[in-house]
Amino acid sequence: MLLEHLLELLYIMKYCIVCSDEISSARYGLGYKTCLCCGDKIAKARKHCIVPLAKSNYQPVTNPNTLKQLNKYAAA
Ligand SMILES: [Zn+2]
Repeated sequence: MLLEHLLELLYIMKYCIVCSDEISSARYGLGYKTCLCCGDKIAKARKHCIVPLAKSNYQPVTNPNTLKQLNKYAAA
């Protein structure tokens, strides 16, 4: 519960969701939720990932923007 609340706060505020460092306004404005350092690490660690979709087979996602959209639907 507390962790969820904290994540929610981090999501609203301009802080990295990974290390809680402040994110620059310019970067935040682009939709990043991580600082430059963590964003870099994540980008390198996840060249692609597999996303389970309700009505189809597992779909490989290579575009981070696609993943964000899927997350939006999943949260709704
Ligand atoms: Zn960070």
